[in-house]
Amino acid sequence: MCDLQKIRLLDLDREELAAFVSSLNMPRYRASQIYGRILAGDDIPDITSLSKKDREVLSQAAVSGLPEIVSVRQSKLDETAKYLFKVSGGVLVETVLMKYSYGYSVCVSSQAGCRMGCRFCASSGIAFSRDLTPGEILGQIIAVNKDKNIRIGHVVIMGIGEPLDNYDNVIKFLKLITSEDGLNISARKISLSTCGIVPNIIRLAGEGIPVTLSVSLHNPFDDERSEIMPVNRLYPLDELFKACREYVRLTGRRVTFEYSLISGVNDSARHANELAARLSHLQCHVNIIPVNKVTGTGFERPDREAINRFAKMLEEKGIPATVRRELGRDISAACGQLRKSVITEQSADQSLSADKEA
Ligand code: SAH
Repeated sequence: MCDLQKIRLLDLDREELAAFVSSLNMPRYRASQIYGRILAGDDIPDITSLSKKDREVLSQAAVSGLPEIVSVRQSKLDETAKYLFKVSGGVLVETVLMKYSYGYSVCVSSQAGCRMGCRFCASSGIAFSRDLTPGEILGQIIAVNKDKNIRIGHVVIMGIGEPLDNYDNVIKFLKLITSEDGLNISARKISLSTCGIVPNIIRLAGEGIPVTLSVSLHNPFDDERSEIMPVNRLYPLDELFKACREYVRLTGRRVTFEYSLISGVNDSARHANELAARLSHLQCHVNIIPVNKVTGTGFERPDREAINRFAKMLEEKGIPATVRRELGRDISAACGQLRKSVITEQSADQSLSADKEA
């Protein structure tokens, strides 16, 4: 059996692993042993508490599913590290490790590429390749934990891809990572960022996994938002805010709105006033992100003064707002940038044809 047809152990929860182990005629109790080691980032041949024969049987039917490190860029300014991983089929996936005062946080990708087409985002320049499986999302965290020998306490699903466009796999990932049998990371320490796929925000609200919902807003006017975010044509702002209110009602969590400030596009007093008006009845917080320059988009960030002025205008109207501290500026920490630059380098020397397809 080729590796692509094999079961990826990281895709399974403990019960599923127990059933799989039994199907291979191994005692079910072996599942706990195997699960613990796989979550620690070990590969099947490393599980020496299993007999050689059992490791062989397991290897014939399964792979761990841990991604392979292609490159790591370490910031010289802070502890940010950006990983490029290869998952099955040669698909490339980006992950960022960040260090905050409260500990380590990892930003994971949920898809290889993205279908949403936001105009300011580097991921939009990468053709959509495929959804990531639950284990491929989880594997990014485990691989970073192992590489740095750390314990990651916070997770943001804010890398490449739209998590609510890969709903079932992302929900299973959330179940795996929050499970007591799994990494046991509380839903409160996980943020899921979406461009606003309304029906799935409402579904997520009912899942009983109260993660922090982060909504990429970027403009409070429908016509202007549709210009930079095509998803707005399908799910306009009234529907989006209604879904956010439902999320707050069902989970008791306040929603975060991401607002990438783009000079001359969405940074005026008119924008701040409309944003404040639209958010005034919503339990929320606005995260202002000076837009990261992505070649070809033509978008520039406003100067520091204009950024602070925008934040102040919101706060004066009673909307809590913070300007996001930027980590890893020297290593292209913006969404999609590393993968894009590596692919460009690879395309230039025509060395990895699989990546060009992705
Ligand atoms: N698809 C999801 C998650 C991926 S993007 C979403 O849209 O939320 C993660 C965040 O980075 C989003 O808020 C996105 O709008 C923002 N982002 C993308 N490109 C950016 C750029 N060039 N500068 C600043 N923020 C950017």
